[in-house]
Amino acid sequence: MKILKYPNPILLEKAKPVEDFGPSLFALVQNLTHAIRNVEWGNPVGMAAPQIGDSRRVFIAEGDVYVNPEIQLSNQQDHAIEGCYSLEENKDYPVWRAQSVWIKYQDIKGEWHEKKLSGFQARVVQQEFDHLEGKSCASESQEVSPQQ
Ligand SMILES: [Zn+2]
Repeated sequence: MKILKYPNPILLEKAKPVEDFGPSLFALVQNLTHAIRNVEWGNPVGMAAPQIGDSRRVFIAEGDVYVNPEIQLSNQQDHAIEGCYSLEENKDYPVWRAQSVWIKYQDIKGEWHEKKLSGFQARVVQQEFDHLEGKSCASESQEVSPQQ
């Protein structure tokens, strides 16, 4: 499973909502899982479907599958270093992120769930969500103070 790198056009477009919760979604989740297990460097915590060339709104973050996610960001932000398998190997990107998020999403069967995540977990889903919007931690990277 080849991981695409920026500026591959699939990574720059907005991914499409999943409407079919059948075998092709299952296959996508399997391929994502496989891609995460087989990375050649670092310690993967998530991956989004566009990174393996599939422009559907699906990602895996810390072992959980998120389909058609919608997120609400807290106003409070914190700053940390991120890396990404679609960017340069072992390169660090400092990014401001919301400290916590509410995330609403479907599971692989199409059932809706909602939860609040904070800290590192919130950061991981924000990076993966950005991939569905055609953004990366490089495009979001910022050393200076956060926008108010
Ligand atoms: Zn990434």
